[in-house]
Amino acid sequence: MVSSDGLQPDQREQVQKAIAVLEQHGFNRETFIFKHLTVFRGTDNWWNGYIGHHEAYAATNFPFEVVTLYPEFFSVPIDYTERAAVLLHEAQHLMGSGEEAALGATWRSKRRLGWTLDRYKQTRLWYATEQLTKAQFPYMFKCGSDGQSDCF
Ligand SMILES: [Zn+2]
Repeated sequence: MVSSDGLQPDQREQVQKAIAVLEQHGFNRETFIFKHLTVFRGTDNWWNGYIGHHEAYAATNFPFEVVTLYPEFFSVPIDYTERAAVLLHEAQHLMGSGEEAALGATWRSKRRLGWTLDRYKQTRLWYATEQLTKAQFPYMFKCGSDGQSDCF
């Protein structure tokens, strides 16, 4: 179902499992886009990734619905929930959102996805995403008794 000729068989399986996590948690629109409208491709060319997008894991060419997955997509996330979080971000781009909106939407949806502070606060992906999101949306981190905690 996933068009991913540019990926190795084991990479394709990892993408399918990450999409399955999205599906299990009711992200139906995103699941549909990934299953039917998106071409995945892999690349070892970090330089293209570096200049094309500041993110280290994946990049999306809108409106062509091509998602390029960098080696870090397969190596850095600790499980399929984290890979699903990366895909959830890319799905926002596939629907036309810019970087800021993609960060905000992913951060607000992370609990629904099961990507939560108690389980993932030690991971590289969590830390990097939190830093990026905090820089864009300081007001989303002014909750809790200390007034400095994540509101979502
Ligand atoms: Zn992005």
